Amino acid sequence: MPEEIICEASDNCNLKAVKSCLNCTASFCETHVKKHYTEPKLQKHVLVDVTGDLEERLCQEHHRLREVFCRTDQKLICFKCALNYHKGHHFADEIEQAGRQVWSIIFYPFS
Ligand SMILES: [Zn+2]
Ligand SMILES: [Zn+2]
Ligand SMILES: [Zn+2]
Ligand SMILES: [Zn+2]
Repeated sequence: MPEEIICEASDNCNLKAVKSCLNCTASFCETHVKKHYTEPKLQKHVLVDVTGDLEERLCQEHHRLREVFCRTDQKLICFKCALNYHKGHHFADEIEQAGRQVWSIIFYPFS
């Protein structure tokens, strides 16, 4: 069993974490995660259930969220990996939809 993850919002909070934020790379309790639903700039953050393997969701090389699925390699990669190592590869449609603006900035200058 993974050990229980404690909220990292403040040193005084010792409550059990319920969500991990991949952007903050921290885990939050029910109370402290609320800001992520109400503050516009935090609403963009990606929350996942607490699993204890947050490190695995981050690219070790770029310390960015692995949010792009490369269909060519059948694995999750970060945007920087996509830019550096996966040019011309095929990416999952839903990611292409969501990240169209980012993709156009990244890829069109080279194509
Ligand atoms: Zn966050
Ligand atoms: Zn808390
Ligand atoms: Zn990367
Ligand atoms: Zn690839």
